Amino acid sequence: MSNDEYDLVIVGGGVAGLTAGLTSARAGRKTRVLTGAALGGHLVSIERIDGYPGFPDGVPGYDLCPIIQEQAVGAGAEFAATEATGLHADDGTWRVSTGEGDVRARAVLIATGTTLKTLGIPGEERLRGKGVSHCASCDAPLLRNRIVGVVGGGDSALQEALTLAQHAARVIILHRGTAFSAQPDYIQRVQENPKVEVRFGTIVEEAIGNGGLTSVRTRTVGDGKTGDVELAGLFVYVGLAPATTLLADVLALDASGRIPVDGEMRSNLPGLFAAGTVRSGSAGRAASAAGDGATAALSADRYLKDGTWSG
Ligand SMILES: Cc1cc2nc3c(=O)[nH]c(=O)nc-3n(C[C@H](O)[C@H](O)[C@H](O)COP(=O)(O)OP(=O)(O)OC[C@H]3O[C@@H](n4cnc5c(N)ncnc54)[C@H](O)[C@@H]3O)c2cc1C
Repeated sequence: MSNDEYDLVIVGGGVAGLTAGLTSARAGRKTRVLTGAALGGHLVSIERIDGYPGFPDGVPGYDLCPIIQEQAVGAGAEFAATEATGLHADDGTWRVSTGEGDVRARAVLIATGTTLKTLGIPGEERLRGKGVSHCASCDAPLLRNRIVGVVGGGDSALQEALTLAQHAARVIILHRGTAFSAQPDYIQRVQENPKVEVRFGTIVEEAIGNGGLTSVRTRTVGDGKTGDVELAGLFVYVGLAPATTLLADVLALDASGRIPVDGEMRSNLPGLFAAGTVRSGSAGRAASAAGDGATAALSADRYLKDGTWSG
Protein backbone atom coordinates (compact mmCIF):
# COMPACT_ATOMS: atom_id res chain seq x y z
CA MET A 1 0.00 0.00 0.00
CA SER A 2 1.50 3.38 -0.95
CA ASN A 3 1.53 6.35 1.43
CA ASP A 4 -1.68 7.87 0.08
CA GLU A 5 -3.59 4.53 0.07
CA TYR A 6 -5.72 3.50 3.04
CA ASP A 7 -8.09 0.72 4.05
CA LEU A 8 -10.57 3.31 5.29
CA VAL A 9 -10.74 7.07 4.83
CA ILE A 10 -13.15 8.81 7.20
CA VAL A 11 -14.47 12.19 6.12
CA GLY A 12 -15.45 14.14 9.24
CA GLY A 13 -13.85 14.73 12.63
CA GLY A 14 -16.96 14.95 14.82
CA VAL A 15 -17.72 12.35 17.46
CA ALA A 16 -18.88 9.90 14.75
CA GLY A 17 -15.67 10.26 12.71
CA LEU A 18 -13.41 10.22 15.78
CA THR A 19 -15.03 7.07 17.16
CA ALA A 20 -14.87 5.40 13.75
CA GLY A 21 -11.17 6.33 13.50
CA LEU A 22 -10.51 4.76 16.90
CA THR A 23 -12.48 1.60 16.13
CA SER A 24 -11.01 1.11 12.67
CA ALA A 25 -7.43 1.60 13.86
CA ARG A 26 -8.05 -0.82 16.75
CA ALA A 27 -9.18 -3.37 14.17
CA GLY A 28 -5.75 -2.99 12.56
CA ARG A 29 -6.94 -1.04 9.53
CA LYS A 30 -4.82 1.66 7.93
CA THR A 31 -7.11 4.60 8.66
CA ARG A 32 -7.06 8.29 7.82
CA VAL A 33 -9.49 10.80 9.30
CA LEU A 34 -10.05 14.05 7.39
CA THR A 35 -11.50 16.39 9.98
CA GLY A 36 -12.10 19.57 7.99
CA ALA A 37 -11.81 22.78 10.01
CA ALA A 38 -13.70 21.59 13.10
CA LEU A 39 -11.98 18.74 14.92
CA GLY A 40 -14.71 17.54 17.27
CA GLY A 41 -17.52 18.92 15.09
CA HIS A 42 -20.35 20.67 16.93
CA LEU A 43 -19.39 19.18 20.25
CA VAL A 44 -16.06 20.96 20.44
CA SER A 45 -17.77 24.29 21.08
CA ILE A 46 -20.35 23.00 23.55
CA GLU A 47 -19.70 23.90 27.16
CA ARG A 48 -21.72 21.05 28.59
CA ILE A 49 -22.60 17.95 26.59
CA ASP A 50 -25.61 16.41 28.30
CA GLY A 51 -26.64 12.78 28.13
CA TYR A 52 -23.24 11.37 27.12
CA PRO A 53 -22.59 8.11 29.02
CA GLY A 54 -20.09 8.35 31.83
CA PHE A 55 -20.59 12.05 32.59
CA PRO A 56 -23.60 12.52 34.90
CA ASP A 57 -22.88 16.26 35.24
CA GLY A 58 -22.17 16.77 31.53
CA VAL A 59 -18.75 17.24 29.97
CA PRO A 60 -17.29 20.14 27.97
CA GLY A 61 -16.91 19.16 24.31
CA TYR A 62 -13.52 20.87 24.16
CA ASP A 63 -12.34 18.41 26.83
CA LEU A 64 -13.97 15.26 25.45
CA CYS A 65 -13.12 15.52 21.74
CA PRO A 66 -9.31 15.82 22.05
CA ILE A 67 -9.35 12.75 24.36
CA ILE A 68 -11.15 10.65 21.73
CA GLN A 69 -8.73 11.92 19.08
CA GLU A 70 -5.72 11.05 21.26
CA GLN A 71 -7.16 7.59 21.83
CA ALA A 72 -7.59 7.14 18.05
CA VAL A 73 -4.05 8.36 17.35
CA GLY A 74 -2.77 6.00 20.05
CA ALA A 75 -4.48 3.15 18.23
CA GLY A 76 -2.77 4.15 14.98
CA ALA A 77 -5.27 6.38 13.14
CA GLU A 78 -3.81 9.24 11.08
CA PHE A 79 -5.45 12.65 11.14
CA ALA A 80 -5.44 15.59 8.73
CA ALA A 81 -7.22 18.91 9.25
CA THR A 82 -8.20 18.79 5.61
CA GLU A 83 -11.52 19.25 3.85
CA ALA A 84 -12.61 16.61 1.35
CA THR A 85 -13.67 18.34 -1.86
CA GLY A 86 -14.59 15.39 -4.06
CA LEU A 87 -15.39 11.69 -3.96
CA HIS A 88 -14.99 9.35 -6.92
CA ALA A 89 -15.48 5.62 -7.42
CA ASP A 90 -12.44 4.35 -9.27
CA ASP A 91 -11.96 0.74 -10.31
CA GLY A 92 -13.17 -0.92 -7.09
CA THR A 93 -11.58 1.69 -4.83
CA TRP A 94 -12.48 5.23 -3.77
CA ARG A 95 -10.57 8.43 -4.44
CA VAL A 96 -11.09 11.33 -2.06
CA SER A 97 -9.93 14.72 -3.33
CA THR A 98 -8.60 17.27 -0.88
CA GLY A 99 -6.82 20.62 -1.18
CA GLU A 100 -3.62 18.70 -0.43
CA GLY A 101 -4.04 16.08 -3.14
CA ASP A 102 -5.99 12.84 -3.49
CA VAL A 103 -6.11 9.92 -1.06
CA ARG A 104 -7.28 6.44 -2.06
CA ALA A 105 -9.10 3.88 0.01
CA ARG A 106 -10.97 0.63 -0.39
CA ALA A 107 -13.68 1.99 1.86
CA VAL A 108 -14.86 5.50 2.73
CA LEU A 109 -16.98 6.60 5.67
CA ILE A 110 -18.88 9.87 5.38
CA ALA A 111 -19.31 11.46 8.83
CA THR A 112 -19.63 15.09 7.80
CA GLY A 113 -22.50 15.85 10.19
CA THR A 114 -24.49 19.02 9.87
CA THR A 115 -24.14 22.78 9.69
CA LEU A 116 -26.27 25.22 11.67
CA LYS A 117 -28.89 26.91 9.52
CA THR A 118 -28.90 30.68 9.22
CA LEU A 119 -31.92 32.99 9.37
CA GLY A 120 -31.22 34.49 5.95
CA ILE A 121 -32.19 37.97 7.14
CA PRO A 122 -30.62 41.35 6.27
CA GLY A 123 -27.57 42.16 8.38
CA GLU A 124 -26.95 38.56 9.48
CA GLU A 125 -23.92 37.84 7.31
CA ARG A 126 -22.52 41.38 7.59
CA LEU A 127 -22.60 41.19 11.40
CA ARG A 128 -21.42 37.58 11.70
CA GLY A 129 -18.53 37.60 14.19
CA LYS A 130 -19.54 41.14 15.18
CA GLY A 131 -22.37 40.12 17.48
CA VAL A 132 -24.13 37.50 15.35
CA SER A 133 -22.85 34.06 16.31
CA HIS A 134 -23.47 30.31 16.33
CA CYS A 135 -21.17 29.61 19.27
CA ALA A 136 -22.33 30.51 22.77
CA SER A 137 -19.34 29.12 24.64
CA CYS A 138 -16.89 30.96 22.32
CA ASP A 139 -18.56 34.36 22.53
CA ALA A 140 -20.38 34.38 25.88
CA PRO A 141 -17.34 35.57 27.90
CA LEU A 142 -17.06 38.58 25.54
CA LEU A 143 -20.65 39.53 26.32
CA ARG A 144 -20.39 39.51 30.08
CA ASN A 145 -23.16 41.59 31.69
CA ARG A 146 -24.70 42.50 28.32
CA ILE A 147 -28.13 41.65 26.96
CA VAL A 148 -28.10 38.92 24.32
CA GLY A 149 -30.71 37.16 22.20
CA VAL A 150 -31.11 33.53 21.19
CA VAL A 151 -33.23 32.55 18.20
CA GLY A 152 -34.89 29.13 18.22
CA GLY A 153 -36.92 26.85 20.44
CA GLY A 154 -35.24 23.42 20.30
CA ASP A 155 -32.57 21.70 22.40
CA SER A 156 -29.66 23.67 20.95
CA ALA A 157 -31.32 27.05 21.48
CA LEU A 158 -32.26 26.39 25.09
CA GLN A 159 -29.00 24.68 25.97
CA GLU A 160 -27.00 27.59 24.60
CA ALA A 161 -29.30 30.15 26.26
CA LEU A 162 -28.44 28.50 29.58
CA THR A 163 -24.72 28.72 28.77
CA LEU A 164 -25.10 32.40 27.88
CA ALA A 165 -27.03 33.11 31.08
CA GLN A 166 -23.90 32.25 33.07
CA HIS A 167 -22.22 35.35 31.62
CA ALA A 168 -24.81 37.78 30.23
CA ALA A 169 -26.95 40.19 32.25
CA ARG A 170 -30.05 38.91 30.46
CA VAL A 171 -30.84 36.40 27.72
CA ILE A 172 -33.93 36.90 25.58
CA ILE A 173 -35.12 33.82 23.68
CA LEU A 174 -36.93 34.87 20.52
CA HIS A 175 -39.01 32.01 19.17
CA ARG A 176 -41.51 32.16 16.33
CA GLY A 177 -43.54 29.22 17.72
CA THR A 178 -45.89 29.18 20.67
CA ALA A 179 -44.07 26.42 22.57
CA PHE A 180 -40.58 24.93 22.82
CA SER A 181 -39.68 21.64 21.15
CA ALA A 182 -36.73 21.06 23.51
CA GLN A 183 -36.38 18.29 26.08
CA PRO A 184 -38.30 18.91 29.33
CA ASP A 185 -35.13 19.33 31.41
CA TYR A 186 -33.98 22.31 29.30
CA ILE A 187 -37.46 23.86 29.34
CA GLN A 188 -37.60 23.63 33.11
CA ARG A 189 -34.11 25.07 33.57
CA VAL A 190 -34.93 27.97 31.25
CA GLN A 191 -38.20 28.67 33.04
CA GLU A 192 -36.46 28.64 36.40
CA ASN A 193 -33.56 30.87 35.34
CA PRO A 194 -34.30 34.47 36.35
CA LYS A 195 -31.88 35.79 33.74
CA VAL A 196 -33.76 34.21 30.83
CA GLU A 197 -36.78 35.88 29.27
CA VAL A 198 -38.88 34.10 26.64
CA ARG A 199 -40.77 35.81 23.81
CA PHE A 200 -42.91 33.35 21.88
CA GLY A 201 -44.51 34.29 18.57
CA THR A 202 -41.59 36.53 17.69
CA ILE A 203 -39.89 36.54 14.29
CA VAL A 204 -36.46 38.13 13.93
CA GLU A 205 -36.40 40.01 10.64
CA GLU A 206 -33.18 42.04 10.64
CA ALA A 207 -29.88 42.32 12.46
CA ILE A 208 -28.99 45.99 12.94
CA GLY A 209 -25.68 47.71 13.65
CA ASN A 210 -22.71 49.33 11.93
CA GLY A 211 -19.45 48.21 13.55
CA GLY A 212 -21.26 45.55 15.58
CA LEU A 213 -24.75 44.34 16.39
CA THR A 214 -26.81 46.84 18.40
CA SER A 215 -30.36 45.54 17.97
CA VAL A 216 -32.68 43.29 16.01
CA ARG A 217 -35.95 44.12 14.29
CA THR A 218 -38.76 41.76 15.26
CA ARG A 219 -42.30 41.12 14.09
CA THR A 220 -44.98 39.58 16.27
CA VAL A 221 -46.86 36.64 14.83
CA GLY A 222 -50.58 37.40 14.73
CA ASP A 223 -50.80 41.19 14.91
CA GLY A 224 -47.70 41.71 12.71
CA LYS A 225 -46.39 44.52 14.98
CA THR A 226 -42.73 45.35 14.45
CA GLY A 227 -40.26 46.64 17.02
CA ASP A 228 -36.57 46.78 17.85
CA VAL A 229 -34.89 44.87 20.67
CA GLU A 230 -31.49 46.16 21.82
CA LEU A 231 -29.00 43.29 21.90
CA ALA A 232 -25.22 43.04 22.05
CA GLY A 233 -25.26 39.47 20.72
CA LEU A 234 -27.57 37.28 18.67
CA PHE A 235 -27.14 33.50 18.75
CA VAL A 236 -28.92 31.58 16.02
CA TYR A 237 -30.09 27.96 16.56
CA VAL A 238 -32.86 27.39 14.05
CA GLY A 239 -32.05 23.91 12.82
CA LEU A 240 -29.35 21.85 11.19
CA ALA A 241 -28.67 21.08 7.54
CA PRO A 242 -26.76 17.89 6.57
CA ALA A 243 -23.30 18.55 5.12
CA THR A 244 -23.58 16.54 1.92
CA THR A 245 -22.31 18.86 -0.84
CA LEU A 246 -19.52 16.35 -1.40
CA LEU A 247 -22.05 13.69 -2.41
CA ALA A 248 -24.15 15.67 -4.88
CA ASP A 249 -23.22 13.49 -7.88
CA VAL A 250 -22.29 10.35 -5.97
CA LEU A 251 -25.49 8.88 -4.56
CA ALA A 252 -29.16 9.65 -3.97
CA LEU A 253 -29.98 11.32 -0.66
CA ASP A 254 -33.23 11.06 1.29
CA ALA A 255 -35.85 13.82 1.36
CA SER A 256 -34.04 15.60 4.22
CA GLY A 257 -30.73 15.52 2.30
CA ARG A 258 -29.22 12.76 4.45
CA ILE A 259 -27.50 9.54 3.34
CA PRO A 260 -29.68 6.40 3.40
CA VAL A 261 -27.92 3.50 5.13
CA ASP A 262 -28.80 0.06 6.44
CA GLY A 263 -28.28 -1.10 10.03
CA GLU A 264 -24.59 -1.62 9.35
CA MET A 265 -24.19 1.98 8.15
CA ARG A 266 -23.76 0.82 4.54
CA SER A 267 -24.95 3.08 1.74
CA ASN A 268 -26.16 1.58 -1.51
CA LEU A 269 -22.66 1.86 -3.03
CA PRO A 270 -20.09 -0.86 -2.21
CA GLY A 271 -17.41 0.44 0.14
CA LEU A 272 -19.26 3.65 1.02
CA PHE A 273 -20.53 4.04 4.60
CA ALA A 274 -22.18 6.89 6.51
CA ALA A 275 -22.39 7.57 10.25
CA GLY A 276 -23.62 10.24 12.64
CA THR A 277 -26.07 13.04 11.97
CA VAL A 278 -25.42 13.00 8.22
CA ARG A 279 -27.11 9.62 7.86
CA SER A 280 -30.84 8.98 7.48
CA GLY A 281 -32.63 8.26 10.73
CA SER A 282 -29.87 9.54 13.03
CA ALA A 283 -31.09 10.09 16.58
CA GLY A 284 -29.15 13.36 16.58
CA ARG A 285 -27.35 12.80 19.88
CA ALA A 286 -23.63 12.56 20.55
CA ALA A 287 -23.90 9.03 21.97
CA SER A 288 -25.78 7.75 18.93
CA ALA A 289 -23.27 9.40 16.57
CA ALA A 290 -20.41 7.71 18.44
CA GLY A 291 -22.26 4.39 18.23
CA ASP A 292 -22.76 4.85 14.50
CA GLY A 293 -19.06 5.51 14.07
CA ALA A 294 -18.12 2.28 15.83
CA THR A 295 -20.74 0.28 13.90
CA ALA A 296 -19.58 1.71 10.56
CA ALA A 297 -15.89 1.03 11.26
CA LEU A 298 -16.56 -2.61 12.20
CA SER A 299 -18.82 -3.01 9.21
CA ALA A 300 -16.07 -1.56 6.98
CA ASP A 301 -13.60 -3.99 8.53
CA ARG A 302 -15.89 -6.91 7.58
CA TYR A 303 -16.24 -5.56 4.04
CA LEU A 304 -12.47 -5.19 3.72
CA LYS A 305 -12.07 -8.82 4.83
CA ASP A 306 -14.60 -10.50 2.57
CA GLY A 307 -15.45 -7.90 -0.08
CA THR A 308 -19.17 -8.69 0.01
CA TRP A 309 -21.84 -6.04 0.16
CA SER A 310 -25.22 -7.76 0.16
CA GLY A 311 -27.10 -8.22 3.43
C1 LIG B 1 -25.66 23.78 20.00
C2 LIG B 1 -25.70 22.27 20.06
C3 LIG B 1 -25.73 21.63 21.28
C4 LIG B 1 -25.76 20.22 21.35
N1 LIG B 1 -25.75 19.62 22.58
C5 LIG B 1 -25.78 18.26 22.67
C6 LIG B 1 -25.75 17.60 23.94
O1 LIG B 1 -25.71 18.24 24.97
N2 LIG B 1 -25.79 16.24 23.96
C7 LIG B 1 -25.82 15.49 22.82
O2 LIG B 1 -25.87 14.25 22.90
N3 LIG B 1 -25.83 16.09 21.59
C8 LIG B 1 -25.80 17.46 21.50
N4 LIG B 1 -25.81 18.07 20.27
C9 LIG B 1 -25.84 17.21 19.07
C10 LIG B 1 -24.41 16.75 18.75
O3 LIG B 1 -23.62 17.90 18.55
C11 LIG B 1 -24.41 15.85 17.50
O4 LIG B 1 -25.19 14.72 17.74
C12 LIG B 1 -22.99 15.41 17.14
O5 LIG B 1 -22.14 16.53 17.04
C13 LIG B 1 -23.01 14.66 15.83
O6 LIG B 1 -21.70 14.29 15.53
P1 LIG B 1 -21.22 14.02 14.03
O7 LIG B 1 -19.84 13.49 14.14
O8 LIG B 1 -22.25 13.20 13.34
O9 LIG B 1 -21.26 15.43 13.27
P2 LIG B 1 -20.66 16.88 13.57
O10 LIG B 1 -20.48 17.14 15.00
O11 LIG B 1 -21.53 17.81 12.77
O12 LIG B 1 -19.19 16.83 12.91
C14 LIG B 1 -19.02 16.88 11.53
C15 LIG B 1 -17.54 16.85 11.22
O13 LIG B 1 -17.37 16.74 9.80
C16 LIG B 1 -16.39 17.66 9.36
N5 LIG B 1 -16.65 17.92 7.94
C17 LIG B 1 -17.76 18.42 7.34
N6 LIG B 1 -17.59 18.47 6.00
C18 LIG B 1 -16.34 17.98 5.76
C19 LIG B 1 -15.57 17.78 4.57
N7 LIG B 1 -16.05 18.07 3.35
N8 LIG B 1 -14.32 17.28 4.69
C20 LIG B 1 -13.82 16.96 5.92
N9 LIG B 1 -14.51 17.11 7.06
C21 LIG B 1 -15.74 17.63 6.98
C22 LIG B 1 -16.54 18.85 10.30
O14 LIG B 1 -15.36 19.65 10.29
C23 LIG B 1 -16.75 18.10 11.62
O15 LIG B 1 -15.49 17.68 12.11
C24 LIG B 1 -25.78 19.46 20.17
C25 LIG B 1 -25.75 20.12 18.92
C26 LIG B 1 -25.72 21.51 18.86
C27 LIG B 1 -25.69 22.18 17.51
